[in-house]
Amino acid sequence: MKQIPYWLDTAPALPDRSGRELPDEADVVVIGGGLTGLSTAYHTARKGARVVLVEKDKVGSGASGRNGSMCTQGITISTAEARKRYSQERVRELYDAFREAVDVVEELTKKERIDCDFDRSGRLGVAFKPQHFEAMRAKQRDLAENFGHETQLLTRGELKSELASDYYHGALLDPLSAGLHVGKFVHGLAEAAERAGAEIHERNAATGLTRLSGGGFLVETLNGTIRAKQVMAATDAYTDKAMPWFRKRLINVGSFIIVTEPLGEARAKELIPNARLVVDSKNIGHYIRLTPDHRLAFGGRARFAPSNPASDVKSGDILKREMTEIFPQLAGVRIDYVWGGTVGFSWDRVPHAGEVDGLYYSMGYCGHGVQMATYMGRAVAEMMDGRPEANPLRGLGFPKVPVPFYNGTPWFLPFGGAYYKAKDRLR
Ligand SMILES: Cc1cc2nc3c(=O)[nH]c(=O)nc-3n(C[C@H](O)[C@H](O)[C@H](O)COP(=O)(O)OP(=O)(O)OC[C@H]3O[C@@H](n4cnc5c(N)ncnc54)[C@H](O)[C@@H]3O)c2cc1C
Repeated sequence: MKQIPYWLDTAPALPDRSGRELPDEADVVVIGGGLTGLSTAYHTARKGARVVLVEKDKVGSGASGRNGSMCTQGITISTAEARKRYSQERVRELYDAFREAVDVVEELTKKERIDCDFDRSGRLGVAFKPQHFEAMRAKQRDLAENFGHETQLLTRGELKSELASDYYHGALLDPLSAGLHVGKFVHGLAEAAERAGAEIHERNAATGLTRLSGGGFLVETLNGTIRAKQVMAATDAYTDKAMPWFRKRLINVGSFIIVTEPLGEARAKELIPNARLVVDSKNIGHYIRLTPDHRLAFGGRARFAPSNPASDVKSGDILKREMTEIFPQLAGVRIDYVWGGTVGFSWDRVPHAGEVDGLYYSMGYCGHGVQMATYMGRAVAEMMDGRPEANPLRGLGFPKVPVPFYNGTPWFLPFGGAYYKAKDRLR
């Protein structure tokens, strides 16, 4: 069993972008080489800026190369919850941004010829409890009436033609969500950023930031110091002690994925005939999809623990057990991959982007970053170009996690996690 992300293992080999000499200055320095950072670098370089991106490890080594590879529709909180907090107009604007984000990914793949299996295969939100299915009925009406988004409700019987499992009580099918091969997408975006003129420096962490009195920043890195007119923090859940302001605002949660051996096209098609992206309605739910080479990828927050090699194996064992509860026909199937990653959550469960003390940032995508990180990279390029209104997340603040002395280590997660797991057991 390999303990590396399937998506990175099956993407074309990456060039080595480490050990490069850092220039003395740049217009824009981007810190972090995930989808947020690469998209910011791409879009700012296309505007003619001299851009340098520094990445602590390799591009895609954070969450961007480790995720479920799903570009799904919808805000990170329910529209009902969003309406309690914001005006209907603001909710609509947020909803549209999340929807447009999937379009932006698709456009980029076409424009830059990124061959990454982008496919609008649709998302099946599956109901774990009968009352979840009733909530989906209301959601379907709300999406159609208030957001012009048509979805399809599938009863338990109808779901059988979409998913070979008796585990769920029905589903809501969104036809606009897309799957892709995120390893190929990250690699392709890095190459596109370079073609646009951005420099990428891997294995070169930013270690300190000083705001200069005459404007701009001095960015200290492991390989030297660079002066920049503008700096973008694109480090999300992998933010380290170099930027403590963000760590006080992010709750970093481990999430884990297993991938089976190749099942063959026929067997894979029996499981999920239309290759939908399946996301269940539990509090601590699962995300399930087929891979382009006919394996099943099965993810979830198996344990409230950080990802590391030993932890990933333990989580993989739990996921395998849960996978065979949902698909008993997969008992005995070999698991070829297991890995984990860290998801950045904000306290109010919506992403945040803006400027703090002259430093730009976008993070806290709460599990919706594949499309939103890509989209927000484009938005930040506009913001840096003097168009703050391009930020769909403007004015949302970025609340601190209200736990005394919190510095980015979410010691409290296992307690909350145990409560929600117990709630999920009651059907
Ligand atoms: C297991 C898992 C499953 C997920 N599934 C999905 C999904 O199916 N769909 C979806 O939309 N979202 C999903 N997500 C969330 C999504 O992957 C993230 O929201 C998104 O990738 C965030 O991108 P990013 O570029 O902001 O951050 P990252 O990709 O995490 O990149 C941050 C980068 O910053 C670098 N860095 C940190 N500190 C420094 C420093 N000081 N100097 C230089 N570099 C630094 C890190 O090394 C890292 O590469 C999932 C996440 C995980 C972990």
